[in-house]
Amino acid sequence: MNDRPELLVLGAGPAGIGAALAATKSDVKTTIVDRAPDGGGQVYRSPIVPQTTSGEEGNRLRQALADSPVETVFDCRLWSIRRDFRIDGIDSRGARTWHPKKIVAALGTTERVIPFPGWTTPGVYGLAATTILLKSQLTLPGKNTVVAGSGPLLAAVAYGIIAGGGKVAAIIDIAGRGEWLASAPALISRPGDLRRGLNWLNRIRQAKVPIIYRHAVKAVRESEQGLEIIAEPVDRYGHGLANGKTTSISSDSLSIGNGLTPATELTRLMGAKHRFDANAGGWIPSLDGGQRTTVDGLYAAGDGTGITGADASFLEGQIAGHTVAYDLDRLDRAEYNRLISPLAADLKRVSRAGRRMAKMMAPRPGQISTIAADTIVCRCEDITRAEIDAAIDSGASDINQLKSWTRCGMGPCQGKTCGDVVASLVAARCGGREKVGSWSPRIPLTALTMDELAGDFTYETIPIPKAAPL
Ligand SMILES: Cc1cc2nc3c(=O)[nH]c(=O)nc-3n(C[C@H](O)[C@H](O)[C@H](O)COP(=O)(O)OP(=O)(O)OC[C@H]3O[C@@H](n4cnc5c(N)ncnc54)[C@H](O)[C@@H]3O)c2cc1C
Repeated sequence: MNDRPELLVLGAGPAGIGAALAATKSDVKTTIVDRAPDGGGQVYRSPIVPQTTSGEEGNRLRQALADSPVETVFDCRLWSIRRDFRIDGIDSRGARTWHPKKIVAALGTTERVIPFPGWTTPGVYGLAATTILLKSQLTLPGKNTVVAGSGPLLAAVAYGIIAGGGKVAAIIDIAGRGEWLASAPALISRPGDLRRGLNWLNRIRQAKVPIIYRHAVKAVRESEQGLEIIAEPVDRYGHGLANGKTTSISSDSLSIGNGLTPATELTRLMGAKHRFDANAGGWIPSLDGGQRTTVDGLYAAGDGTGITGADASFLEGQIAGHTVAYDLDRLDRAEYNRLISPLAADLKRVSRAGRRMAKMMAPRPGQISTIAADTIVCRCEDITRAEIDAAIDSGASDINQLKSWTRCGMGPCQGKTCGDVVASLVAARCGGREKVGSWSPRIPLTALTMDELAGDFTYETIPIPKAAPL
């Protein structure tokens, strides 16, 4: 293993693979690391239905990586990064440490689920998590699943369940039909995605799945059949309609999600400047046109820099890889511009659709303001909305104060699940998302056990220092 590569790419999704392939074309000695067993990221995991185009695309990327001189390290969890460019990971052989000259951060996203009564009930899954279940585990969430939330993952998940032999009881979409129609012009810039989406819808229609537009899940209760899902009609801002008639659906599982938030723990730990952009999914690193962050030698690409989807992530990754090569003097200015110009033009085109989808997935104010007082918001520490409100009443005015006062965000997920919703709750009363900030990032970036860190040892082999003379 080369522990001093010129470039270390963190994350082997479309963005990371794009960066590694581009940099290596200019002979930059590159290593790419991912916790998954293979490259492809979230979207190009090995799919349950081999004939889907995402499978071909994923195989093409994996093959390009295998045919390149890029060193790959899979099944390795990155848990620490220091500002002197020391990066630590853990794999089955133990600890790994790198000291690269340049870093491309391409760690993707985390999914957002807005809490509602019953969201911690067994049988309730995240929408994006369901794609992992389907693609990686080849497992259905249940025999009869309600799919709910917002954005294109609704159709992707419903299609995946049907294609995998499961039944979808209903799709509950917070968007109205009109919003989807208004997105069509932006989607035309990505004809492949549009075709795939229409194919999914066709299959969903053939399976006679009811699609309930402009509704949100109000509560989930355990019942004899498994789950009772109660949906209510909402307005375009997510507020329940006065006198709106609720709908109750029986199922054994619910797959629900409200968009994605960029994974920025690593770029924040490195001290890069970030800004808040609700339509990009949340906090994102400030970048120049070459994907450089404000920290010298640290670049970022993909959904971790704003949710724009797989095609845009691959293009951003390639731009980052060429910029690394240019900054290492492997490319002159003219050659760099020649490589970057078509990528930047393509990125502008495909980002339009990505931004539109991110907007569809963004949480609506009513979804946050109507979270009930006794609903658990931080599920690791069992902190309810009422406890969060009480802390704000007592003077907590930013998200880190709230964390100290309530333990919200201090559990095993380190606030990745609840952070965005908690920040929105505080922001609604304390002056906006920029003002309330984001959790201070802490290592470990991912859950670790003590023996993974300490390795195998017996107490007899620990050297005991001599007692100090009295
Ligand atoms: C759970 C989930 C499922 C999704 N499913 C779909 C889908 O089915 N279809 C779709 O169009 N979009 C899906 N998306 C959105 C999709 O992630 C992006 O549009 C696209 O894959 C972004 O590419 P990327 O390279 O920026 O990030 P990703 O593809 O997310 O790649 C990031 C990589 O970083 C790795 N990583 C993250 N943290 C660590 C760590 N600490 N240590 C080591 N490795 C790490 C991950 O394993 C991953 O391979 C999903 C998102 C999520 C969060």
